[in-house]
Amino acid sequence: PWEYAPAPESRAIANLKPSYRMFVDGEFTDGAGEPLKSVNPATEEILAEVSGAAPSDVDTAVRAARTAFDRTWGRMPGSERAKYLFRIARLIQERGRELAVLETLDNGKPIKESRDADIPTAAAHFFHHAGWADKLGYAGYGPDPRPVGVAGQVIPWNFPLLMLAWKIAPALACGNTVVLKPAETTPLTALVFAEICQQAGLPPGVVNIVPGAGDIGAELVGHPGVDKVAFTGSTEVGKQIQGRLAGTGKRLTLELGGKAANVVFDDAPLDQAVEGIVNGIFFNQGHVCCAGSRLLVQESVAEELLDKLRSRITTLRVGDPLDKNTDVGAINSAEQLAKITELSAAGDTEGASRWTSPCPLPERGFFFSPTVFSNVHQSMRIAREEIFGPVLSVLTFRTPDEAVATANNTPYGLSAGIWTEKGSRILWAAQQMRAGVVWANTFNRFDPTAPFGGYQESGFGREGGRAGLEAYLDV
Ligand code: NAD
Repeated sequence: PWEYAPAPESRAIANLKPSYRMFVDGEFTDGAGEPLKSVNPATEEILAEVSGAAPSDVDTAVRAARTAFDRTWGRMPGSERAKYLFRIARLIQERGRELAVLETLDNGKPIKESRDADIPTAAAHFFHHAGWADKLGYAGYGPDPRPVGVAGQVIPWNFPLLMLAWKIAPALACGNTVVLKPAETTPLTALVFAEICQQAGLPPGVVNIVPGAGDIGAELVGHPGVDKVAFTGSTEVGKQIQGRLAGTGKRLTLELGGKAANVVFDDAPLDQAVEGIVNGIFFNQGHVCCAGSRLLVQESVAEELLDKLRSRITTLRVGDPLDKNTDVGAINSAEQLAKITELSAAGDTEGASRWTSPCPLPERGFFFSPTVFSNVHQSMRIAREEIFGPVLSVLTFRTPDEAVATANNTPYGLSAGIWTEKGSRILWAAQQMRAGVVWANTFNRFDPTAPFGGYQESGFGREGGRAGLEAYLDV
């Protein structure tokens, strides 16, 4: 059995401190709220204590953001703001190793993912938006678009630094100031980002980080001093926020859950499709809003594809997220593990056939074996509900029309994938699918130039690219 090797050197690389403080008005201070404990999900050890914000701290942070908006950031020429964003981007790169190891400790994701995906993509978002800061007149929202004001931003735990970058980079580029609440289980990289803001010489109050649980998120989005709310998280909480904000005049964008279809046609290059399916559902343990959690495969190739898929999954290494050979790391929390376990059990009860990877799991920590359910019907919970874990539900179809109808048979609409050699079919299916992103012969590809966001209960508004600026500009 796999044994966890204590990794003091990783703690040193991550510059892990016993305690972290919130960041308000350019200073690290103790919050008046309940402290949070950051847990390493791969070992269940406490990593650090984090001071928690109280409602009064949220108020102080929003006021600091307002003052910074009125006195410095909101009046600064775009070319000046760009310099700060470039500086932040370079500092994320310079501190990339530290951030990657810290993210893996706090979140449980494999180090090769935080190293090669999360951290470089976070830096790329700042580079991209630095380029926009002095060119907003060309963004198509009028000759002289104005910033909205103070943005209240709430993010989830699956891509802690990357979600922060998706939120903060466009807000700052457009001249807004920010109060951001990281998720309660993954606050650490956000607080290192606060250090980076200090290092970059960002004026006080432009970025404020208030750690806390959902009540602090609710306090932030409801604060009358916040002009624009950006939320990424569950559909359930998104609906609550939308209801609460109705009639307040606040701007709102919501990036919520998903249940993406990854559709394989019989002419697809199957080996390539297998790689895309594995990446689609096991990247980041499936804690991905746009995860390809429903595999739709054409009946004539279903058996062959499933054989190939199972033997490929057998080669995946599940375990110590700090080991650079690990493919699937830890589930972020005991709570999330319980949710995945419960939904998978519903798959058994409802009559689907479960197959699990033979890779042994570590004895400590929160882990879940890569799992494939076949014989899945659209009415089953595992075909309808977001599992947010390494669990794939396989359905079959006969015709392209049936594939599209099944793909669209969901209240969500964040992403989809298509595997086929036929260009015309790609264009046709992309038109038919109600999903914000449709990948063709690839999956989970992200780029700061490409807008990302949902249809239906996956939310509204876009992040990234020119379209993403709209949320932070007034015309
Ligand atoms: P969650 O909704 O429970 O929490 C998200 C954040 O909201 C956390 O910071 C939490 O503290 C805060 N929060 C909780 N209750 C709140 C309230 N009443 N008011 C304001 N803030 C509140 O979601 P989660 O479990 O952390 O994240 C997983 C979900 O996020 C999944 O459904 C996933 O699909 C979604 N997600 C979506 C995207 C996207 O871009 N669409 C990206 C990542 C994750």
